[in-house]
Parts: sequence; C-alpha cells; structure tokens
Amino acid sequence: MSGQLQITEADVVVVGGGGSGLAAASEAARLGRSVILLEKNPRTGGTTSWSVGSVTATNTPHQKRAGIQDSPQAHFEDLAAHAGALAPRDNLALRRILVDNTTDMLEWLMRLGVVFVGPMPEPPHRYPRMHNVVPNSKSFAYHLTRHCRDLGVDIRVDTSIERLIEENGRVTSVEAKDAHGAREIFRARGAVVLAAGDYSGGSDIKAQVASPDVVDVEAVNATSTGDGHRMAQALGATIVNGDIVRGPIMRFIPPAQSNLIQKLPPLKTVARLIAWAMNAMPQWLLRPFLMSFLTTALGPSADLFREGAILVNDRGERFTDELGKPAYDVAKQPDRLAYIVFDDAIAEKFEAWPYFVSTAPGVAYAYLKDYRRNRRDIYHQADTIPGLAASMRVPADRLVTMLNRYNGGERFDRPALSRKPYYALGPVKSYVVFTDGGLKVSERLEVLRADGSVIPGLYAAGSTGQGGLLLEGHGHHLGWAFISGRIAGRHAAFEVPLKKRSDAATH
Ligand SMILES: Cc1cc2nc3c(=O)[nH]c(=O)nc-3n(C[C@H](O)[C@H](O)[C@H](O)COP(=O)(O)OP(=O)(O)OC[C@H]3O[C@@H](n4cnc5c(N)ncnc54)[C@H](O)[C@@H]3O)c2cc1C
Repeated sequence: MSGQLQITEADVVVVGGGGSGLAAASEAARLGRSVILLEKNPRTGGTTSWSVGSVTATNTPHQKRAGIQDSPQAHFEDLAAHAGALAPRDNLALRRILVDNTTDMLEWLMRLGVVFVGPMPEPPHRYPRMHNVVPNSKSFAYHLTRHCRDLGVDIRVDTSIERLIEENGRVTSVEAKDAHGAREIFRARGAVVLAAGDYSGGSDIKAQVASPDVVDVEAVNATSTGDGHRMAQALGATIVNGDIVRGPIMRFIPPAQSNLIQKLPPLKTVARLIAWAMNAMPQWLLRPFLMSFLTTALGPSADLFREGAILVNDRGERFTDELGKPAYDVAKQPDRLAYIVFDDAIAEKFEAWPYFVSTAPGVAYAYLKDYRRNRRDIYHQADTIPGLAASMRVPADRLVTMLNRYNGGERFDRPALSRKPYYALGPVKSYVVFTDGGLKVSERLEVLRADGSVIPGLYAAGSTGQGGLLLEGHGHHLGWAFISGRIAGRHAAFEVPLKKRSDAATH
C-alpha cells in the first residue's frame, strides 16, 4: 500500500506541533514511548503562538497568593454562565475534564519554565482566574519544544500529513509530504494523535459545517486549514458544534515589524523580570510596553461605532450599518478591508477612559493617543477630507462626496462628522479568530464515529479534539489544548503493545 515510500516507525505519532501536540508528545515520551511529532510549518507553535496567552485556571499558586479560595466545581458552573444560550450544546464530560485539570496543567507549565502573571478578573467568573503568560505566547512552544527534545521526541518540521492510513480497521500510519514534495510514511506501533489545530482557514470545512458568511473570511492563522478534521472525516469521524466560530471580527492589519513584546525572548529569566515588573512597577512605566502589544494584536472597540465613527472601504464608500454586524460586510469589500473614519469630537472622547479603542480584558486599555504613538502605519489625521483621503490612499473626490451626503442627512440620527481635524484608523480586516467545532471524542480523547464507536488507533486533542466542548470566555482554549494533549498522549502511549515498545527505527 505504501509502495516504495520510506517508512519510519515509533510508538506514538503526533500530527501537529502546537500546544496540544507538544503536550501529547511530551506525555507519551515521559511514559517511555518513542514519539515522532510532525509539524507542517517551519517551526512548532501553531495558533498557540498567535494567542494572547491567557490561561484560566483554579487553585493555582497565583490564586493562593492572592488569598482566593476557588474550586473546579465553581469553575464548572461559571463556564455555563459564559456559554449563555449555547450552554445546552456543551459536552459536560469534557467540561468536567477541563476544570478538574487546570491546576495541574498550570503548575506543569510553570515547572517547564512558563511564567504567568495574574490572576485577573473576567466576569461572570466569580473569582479572578485568568493567568497571562509573559513575555508572550511563544513561551509555550519554546519551553514545550525544549521539553520534548529533552525527552527524546523526534520533531520533524516542514512535514505535512496528508492522509491517515488504516489497516484491518485500525489507524496505523500517516502519509507525509516534506517541503520538497518528498513523501514518507510514519507508522505508529501504538496510536496516532491528531493535534492539527482548527479550520479557521479551511474554506472547505467552513462551507460544510459553518455559516456561509465565514467561508471566505481569512483566518488569523492562515495555516489552520482543518487538516486533522478532514483526514479523520475520511475515516468516518464527525465534527461537533462546527457552526460555532469566533468571527468574523475586525482587527487592525499587523505592522510590518513585530512589536516589543513579541521580540522578547521567552526565556525564564526575562519572563520572571517582567512578572516582577508588572507587580512592582507603576502603571505609567509599564504602559508604553503594554501598548506596543495592545495596539498590534487587537481589534477596535464597538464603542467607536456607537459614538458615531463610520466604516469606509478603499473606494471611499460607506458600505454598512456600523451598529449591525459590520465585520461581515468588511469581509465582502474590495481587498476585504476598511477604514474607521471619525472627526475630532469622537477623537477627543477616545483619548481617555471610559472610551478606549481596544483592550485585552484584565490587562490594559489602549486609547487614540496610543495608536498615534505606536501605530503610525494605521493612524491617519488631517485638517481636510482630501488630506485624510491622501493619507488613507482612497479617492479624495469619493470620500468628500460620501461625507457631504452623510453629514447632509444620510446619517439618520447618527452624529455628523464635521469637526476638524478628521481621523481614520485602518486598514482593518475581518478575520476568523478560531473555530470551535472539534472531532467527536471519548473522555480518553479517542476519535469517535457519528454512532459513538471508536476509530481504533486514532486520538485527537486541542481544537481538533474539542468534541463539542464550549470554551467561551478567555483562557479556556489554551487550557484545553494542554490538558487534552496530555490525556491523548497518555492513552496513545498505553496502546503500544508491551512486546513492541522500542526506539524509533527507519526501514
Ligand atoms: C489571535 C488569537 C488569540 C488567542 N488568544 C487566546 C488566549 O489568550 N487564550 C486561549 O485560551 N486561547 C486563545 N486563542 C485560541 C488558542 O490559541 C487555540 O485554540 C489553541 O492554541 C489551539 O491549540 P492547538 O494545539 O489545538 O492548535 P495549534 O496551536 O494551531 O497547533 C496545531 C498545529 O498543527 C499543525 N498542523 C496542521 N495541519 C497539519 C498537518 N497536515 N501536518 C502537520 N502539522 C499540521 C499546525 O501547523 C500547528 O502548528 C487565541 C487564538 C487566536 C487566533
């Protein structure tokens, strides 16, 4: 079946090197199994490295230091409040696994060198539970990859898995293609763990399970193409809660260069220094540092539109009801982008609390002045409309005509944009941040068919193995990635027949 292809064998084969895959690989390796981890990108990290880095957990050293007496049961109940109307669709067995394992998961990451600050409040959580990684979310992949290497995991990057291979009703191998197009088979003596992230950038899967509105909307992480979901579906697996998608939401286009925080090495010493500084230093000293992050990674507050800002496409046309679902319409504009246009009356408000342009909940708020300082590339200001149009690089005549009509009456009861100077922030684009549809899985993270039967030899973790679990609020996706990864890795390790356990070998 595998023709002339080279076959490399290990006890456990993990597909994907984000948070869940690295956790799975390290757990199987800790149990003494030989493990190969296959990552399609040039480096490990996946969406885990794109994240803000919030991890919500209870009974942590941070909570104890803050005198908070929390419990997994309280967390379990508060997750229902976060889910709101979606709550009846949750997978309660997986929710229980999530809340019961957060303490252990956070302490494990800390032992590996990951440093967190917090806990921060995020209602309706009854206690502060949000822990934020410092200096940045690359810290997860950095420390987990090192840990995997120390445990002997064979990590192959630039290796994309294209197919799962079943023999006698059991998944035994995967077929990979490297960056040069060369094909190879990786065979698992025990089991394969699919940890390939979500399908936010996978139009075919979005078309199958999600709203038509999001099918062509770009993903924050364009390489999250749902490969794990697709390959498992080919063997009879099924996607649960596939329509639950975070997005489209508007975000400012990223700057050409990484921000200050992204550039910091995720070393433990650097992280500890930052954690200390965040506790000990006054906010005004920390602010420039935090702002370089906030103005890069986040989207605009809806308050801008509530206060009267409008959206304009790159033809200088207003195209949507800003108080409706504007992010859906941004995705349909030429080049899928838009600008937020406003006047000095609105600008004045957004210089200070309570009117912020963007926020990372529990971390900080960014105002217009922060964008003026940190994001000259997306900040536009001029005394005239043609001047503003020139800065935005949109046709001046169209912007002038549109604003004249708007101020002349086409704005219904919204405020006129007539006080100079005039401003624009953008481009903004609409993105799918992540998708919540995961393969149906058992409590051991075995992949299940629609009828509930197990697909032997196949496990899934993280977004691929989300199994209908709702992860509303912040900090639950990463928690699930690490927790489910470790559980899947453990059970995959137990699948290796006793007599067959040995080191990876190439035939
Ligand atoms: C902007 C942003 C901010 C976020 N912030 C937070 C936050 O603060 N807190 C939180 O809890 N969650 C957050 N999330 C969500 C969270 O980051 C993800 O849900 C989580 O990281 C998923 O982990 P994972 O291991 O399942 O997937 P990933 O981290 O995406 O890992 C999957 C890996 O599999 C690889 N892969 C895919 N297909 C193949 C293939 N065919 N062959 C080989 N390798 C393959 C990918 O390249 C990737 O490296 C955020 C997401 C985004 C986009």
